[in-house]
Amino acid sequence: MRRKLVAGNWKMNTRRDDAVALAAALSVGLSGGSASADVIVAPPFVWLDAVASALDGSDIQLAAQNAWCDPPGAYTGEIALEMVRDVGCNWVILGHSERREMFGDTDELVGRKTAAAKQAGLGVILCVGETKDQREAGETEAVLSRQLLAGLDGLDVSETDGLVVAYEPVWAIGTGLTATSEQAESAHAHLRNEVAVRYNATVGESIRILYGGSVKPDNASELMSQSNVDGALVGGASLQAESFLAIIQAA
Ligand code: PEP
Repeated sequence: MRRKLVAGNWKMNTRRDDAVALAAALSVGLSGGSASADVIVAPPFVWLDAVASALDGSDIQLAAQNAWCDPPGAYTGEIALEMVRDVGCNWVILGHSERREMFGDTDELVGRKTAAAKQAGLGVILCVGETKDQREAGETEAVLSRQLLAGLDGLDVSETDGLVVAYEPVWAIGTGLTATSEQAESAHAHLRNEVAVRYNATVGESIRILYGGSVKPDNASELMSQSNVDGALVGGASLQAESFLAIIQAA
């Protein structure tokens, strides 16, 4: 039985006070424990330290939204995986479509980052997803396979613990459009099968695959009740404690 996981990606949102208040509200909201779901938040880098303090004593875990794959050194403007760990993160989100589209994160680079993150002792949420054009051209499964296998390229079977995949159809991110539960289930089943073929049946069965793309309190239950959907990666709705807590409740 895979434990559900709900992760909130705050993207480039919140001011410092908002971030601390949101973390504190989530901490209070989950103070009785989040029962059957793991919960992660991914604030902007600059608030990680403050959010880590606000989450002190809660079960909510911290993720970075990205990181660079080489050891600390002359990489102006970048953040090393070691730094992400040092500030209290045990997760990093890699391969988000916004990084792929706007910041040049190629399949190959996402693979390098994933391998380096695992070696740095971080859990990885590896994002994959097709564009609207790719879906309409019938290329969804091919795109998912390509992104997934490139992302896992440097990862040995012994490093798959703490690996999570997020299926995020690009056309559903921040658009209010959501994949139907059938579309999500079919993509997740495909990804799970690819993981099993890449590693083995045990890894395929145990890996958690999240759905992301306009998840809201009113569609979360239906999506997460699909047998291959193990939780959600939430953008917009993770910026309000009330809606994020409702999604966790649905999980
Ligand atoms: C995301 O960016 O990972 C995401 C799923 O965003 P939203 O929930 O806003 O569509």
